[in-house]
Amino acid sequence: MSQSAQSEPERVEPGRLPARALAAVLAGRSAAWLSRRLGRGRGTTVGGHVARVIDPDLLARLTRGHQVVLVSGTNGKSTTARLTAEALGGAGTVGLNRGGANMTEGIVLAAAAGRRARRFVFEVDESYLGRIAAQTTPSVLALLNLSRDQLDRVSEVARVAARWRADVAGLPSTTVVLANADDPLVAWAAEPAERTGSVLWLAPGGSAFRGDATLCPRCHALLTLEETGWSCTGCGVRRPEPVLWLDETGARHRDGRHWALPDTLPGRVNRANAMTALAVALVAGVDPDQALRRMSLVEAVDGRYERWALLGRQVRLLLAKNPAGWAELLDMLDPDAAVVVAVNARAADGRDTSWLWDVDFERLAGRAVGVSGDRRADVAVRLEVAEVDVRVCADIAETLAALPAGRVDIAANYTAMQDLRAVLEAGTRLPGRGGEDVG
Ligand SMILES: [Zn+2]
Repeated sequence: MSQSAQSEPERVEPGRLPARALAAVLAGRSAAWLSRRLGRGRGTTVGGHVARVIDPDLLARLTRGHQVVLVSGTNGKSTTARLTAEALGGAGTVGLNRGGANMTEGIVLAAAAGRRARRFVFEVDESYLGRIAAQTTPSVLALLNLSRDQLDRVSEVARVAARWRADVAGLPSTTVVLANADDPLVAWAAEPAERTGSVLWLAPGGSAFRGDATLCPRCHALLTLEETGWSCTGCGVRRPEPVLWLDETGARHRDGRHWALPDTLPGRVNRANAMTALAVALVAGVDPDQALRRMSLVEAVDGRYERWALLGRQVRLLLAKNPAGWAELLDMLDPDAAVVVAVNARAADGRDTSWLWDVDFERLAGRAVGVSGDRRADVAVRLEVAEVDVRVCADIAETLAALPAGRVDIAANYTAMQDLRAVLEAGTRLPGRGGEDVG
């Protein structure tokens, strides 16, 4: 894999920020702090907004002179960004937006907080990619996947792909685009970077994404899917040849090198995420073995994957927001654990839950399953049709009490996950694998 063509840019010392930018950073932080004190959430949106009102060019100023990596896609952004940040050196040397704050305001605040770092890794909401790229001039952009999500908010997935394609066309040729060759929509979106020779194709595999790309994005003819990848029956376009791909045991490079990938985080999809982080490390000139060692220490991402003790059960939180995510999540479930399916339909989740009928919940048959969340009745109907024996209770405590003692995997969508974290944070995490140290 070629090195990034970008030379190490001059660093901007924090003390050299213009007075207006410094004022913007301080005001943004104060506003975020105040919002937290008032119990109005994390304060990211208001803090970032205040900072940008004072200095509209703040993000460009804060990231100038830093190596910036952007990660976008429907699923796996937070985990891939976290693994990438570790791969590139971890806390202290890499600034990262945590907690899913992946729109402009959250990214501005993360850039302000991490401005002494050498590098930034930002996960970016699919719809914000163009404007964040324009302000940060990334050295690497990783495009993970595109699938249906938040049916009532995000425009149709093909329109997001078209916007990405325009975003990619607007990138400088110094930006290396790492794109998922197995996802026909991503391959189409990244095509403009191929013309300038700045794309590296990755093949993470996985069939979960393909349900939303049965038609060719270029000519709308049917796509066929084979062992070697997809191809179009109309215009003949096919899966690009990858530089790096996932095999049974790890990641293989076209040049013959092979790396075992960390299995600290569960599921095939997290090996795919680790492979993308490894690819960023290779582009950035970071020693891959060191990168993998650091990645293997990541046991939890924003409260997910770790085990917590709650009401006599050992609970683990897993996030899935859409059918593609649920398909991967069902692979991650502990075979011996009971399962809770927790679904809300608030603004951040999308109010339309018709996607429940596109998830293969039949795979839960034979398990002890409880449902939770605002839309538990909808989920219960779906699970009953799937012939799953389901317990429906008013809150998570009752749901857990109705399940056998031992391990419980809670599969939740976005705000259901936030609700559960609030409950869990009042409890105690279990020590050891899957649990982060608590101070
Ligand atoms: Zn075609």
